[in-house]
Amino acid sequence: MTRSITLLGATGSIGASTLDLVRRERDKWRVVALTANCQAAELAALAREFGAEIAVVADERCLAELREALAGSDIEAAGGAAALVEAASRGADLTVSAIVGCAGLAPTMAAIEQGGMIALANKEALVSAGEVMTAAVERHGATLLPTDSEHNAIFQCLQAGRIEDVRAITLTASGGPFRDWSHEQLKAATPAQALKHPNWDMGAKITIDSATMMNKGLEYIEAHRLFPVGLEKIRILVHPQSVIHSMVEYRDGSTLAQLGPSDMRVPIASCLAWPGRMNTPCAPLDLAALGTLSFFAPDEERFPATRLAREAAEAGGAAPAVLSAANEVAVAAFLAGKVEFTRIALLVAETMAQLHCPAPQTLSEVLAVDAEARRVAAGMLEPA
Ligand code: NDP
Repeated sequence: MTRSITLLGATGSIGASTLDLVRRERDKWRVVALTANCQAAELAALAREFGAEIAVVADERCLAELREALAGSDIEAAGGAAALVEAASRGADLTVSAIVGCAGLAPTMAAIEQGGMIALANKEALVSAGEVMTAAVERHGATLLPTDSEHNAIFQCLQAGRIEDVRAITLTASGGPFRDWSHEQLKAATPAQALKHPNWDMGAKITIDSATMMNKGLEYIEAHRLFPVGLEKIRILVHPQSVIHSMVEYRDGSTLAQLGPSDMRVPIASCLAWPGRMNTPCAPLDLAALGTLSFFAPDEERFPATRLAREAAEAGGAAPAVLSAANEVAVAAFLAGKVEFTRIALLVAETMAQLHCPAPQTLSEVLAVDAEARRVAAGMLEPA
């Protein structure tokens, strides 16, 4: 029996890992939509290979190139924000949400409205929309399958017990490439250094988020939305080897952990095959070769992002959307060489301090908060 799949963010790192798995079980899948922002030639090649129904570039300026690359095929080509939402609304048994940033929110919500399964990698969408998204999931009978390795680990550990029996959820963090750096070294860190993650091969934005620890901050909020145990029960633990992907402790003192190689194909496979299992080409863990697993408390003096995320989660309402939007602006500025590494968290903190919006109740209100936070954060980058 074939299942249909839509992949939002097909040309990215999660997109490539997902398509690698689909390619290995090609006869099991019918591809509905593949999307990108502007990598039209890459998208067209994937659409041809997988026989997609439609290929969409979010940036309309790239549509002509996409059309040309798809000429002679019967694959539809479309461009722009509305086309992205339309493609996500076509309904697929499984939609993989793998666009980076809040840009993925509207199409993810459109997929949720179709009531299917959503493999959610795009953490910023859930962080920004919060209850607006979780309420839509409930209303439309959709199923959110966490794809982020930590949340996928927690999801798997929760299959062994009841959520009301959970005493604590521990999100593990590699600590990123700068785990042992001093504040002075962090100030001078370059984009090239920050883009070298010790364990994971990922897109640029999440790699910088891992270096600042904002990735763990966003994941803390994501965990709060996915697993309603209360913020006080969610903890962060630095574990440099990235072998234990997260843990759940139950009230009887049992702690369950999910372990695996640092390869996103493992959690993605768990979503593709859920509730079953599928083969992956990933090398199995060799714990004897690893020898030692180590753990440390996070240092919020050098890496304040997790504290900012906790404050945003506690404040609730619009605060997580403001945090995430300001972070997107700050990360882009750092990658463009406009601000120092340590300015990223400061810019987020300043935006949060300046902007207090009412709690958004709808998708368009979330998008309005996102736009306003971007405006405020970008304004702070301007020379005085
Ligand atoms: P990449 O940067 O590698 O890929 C992003 C994808 O989104 C590309 O297909 C890109 O298209 C598309 N895209 C970028 N901007 C827009 C836009 N404005 N509108 C529509 N599409 C856009 O990111 P990753 O794959 O690393 O990450 C994707 C998401 O998954 C993020 O939210 C990240 O936090 C999360 N995640 C990623 C992990 C990883 O290992 N990579 C692990 C866990 C979570 P184009 O190629 O044309 O630019």
